[in-house]
Parts: sequence; C-alpha cells; structure tokens
Amino acid sequence: MKVGVLALQGDVPEHLRALRSLLPEGGLLPTRSPADLEQVDALFMPGGESTTIARLLEKAGLWTALRARLEAGLPVLATCAGFILLARELKASGQGREPPTFGLVDVTLRRNDYGAQRESFEGPVRIEGLPGGPFPGVFIRAPRVLEVGPRASAFAWWEEEVVGIRQGAIWGTTFHPELSGDLRLHRLFLSEAGRAH
Ligand code: GLN
Repeated sequence: MKVGVLALQGDVPEHLRALRSLLPEGGLLPTRSPADLEQVDALFMPGGESTTIARLLEKAGLWTALRARLEAGLPVLATCAGFILLARELKASGQGREPPTFGLVDVTLRRNDYGAQRESFEGPVRIEGLPGGPFPGVFIRAPRVLEVGPRASAFAWWEEEVVGIRQGAIWGTTFHPELSGDLRLHRLFLSEAGRAH
C-alpha cells in the first residue's frame, strides 16, 4: 500500500514524520500532482490554511483529480484545514472569505471558532474504538463542528463537542493527531485503509 500526504502547504513534515515510523521504506509519497495522486491508496490531508490549500489544489490541477478519487472511495484522514476542505457546508466565520470545499462530507463547520482565548489548546479526546484511553487533542485555530448530517457519524469528542467524524473511508478531525506524538489514530486509520485496499 502506498500512502500519500498532500504536500502543498501546512504541517506536511509533521505528518510525514509520524507516518515514516509506521510505514515500510518507499511506502510514503508526498503528493503534489495528479500523477502522484494516481499512485496512492490512501491520503492524508494536513492542517494549514484552508484558503491557501484550496488555491494550490486548483493550481496543481489536483482539485478535479482529487474529487474523482474521493468519490471513488479513496481512504482519507483529513486534519483541521484538510477537513474544512471536505465539508458539505461552511458557516460564515466572519474572518474573511470562506474557501471553496469539495462538499462531500456531511458536516457543517465554522472555521476558527474557538475564539482568541482558545485559539490553540490541548485537551483529552475520547475516540471510539481506540484502545489505550483518551487521546491528546491538539487544537490550533480549529474549526467547530456545528452539525453532523445523516451520512456522517461522529467518532471523537472533546468535552461535549464532536471533534472527529467518519463518512465511509473518509475520516476528518478538527484536532491534529500528527502533532501529539501519539500515533494510535494514524495506526488505526492505516489498518482500516489497508483492509479496504
Ligand atoms: N484556521 C485554519 C483554516 O481555516 C485551520 C487551522 C489548522 O489547520 N490548524 O484553514
């Protein structure tokens, strides 16, 4: 199985570092072009700035190519900005223009919704099906999940809030598992993606 990390902008090195320790040599591909995308069996979409990543996806010719792979069931783990780009709906954040999204994952999000005081924070996240107790959730200017539609289902919570959802082979989190030093979620995703493959 070859695993891609969308490598246009954002915390790409952190995802690569986390994955390097879980995959065999040659199993990892920083993904920057449609030709790269064709080779991967699963994809990580990192955090960063969703408006920038959207622009770069378009420029690289990846917007259309990625949509086709997503619709065909490509397993994806998308964190923060990556998750934002998949959402069905973004409510106005009041902080500039919202980025275009693929609109495929049945959630409504609002970007940067934890306010100045909680712009970045850490908290214990409860993850369904993850052995070993609470997961260290790292939130950085995170979007808030306002609504989960019938096609998606929640699998992670911080306090009373949904912070992770799944829809088919797509997993989206508002926190950053790649920044926590805890590889359990990456491992769980890869084992499911491997089975689907
Ligand atoms: N605030 C960023 C955005 O709206 C997301 C932040 C992140 O990925 N950590 O795209």
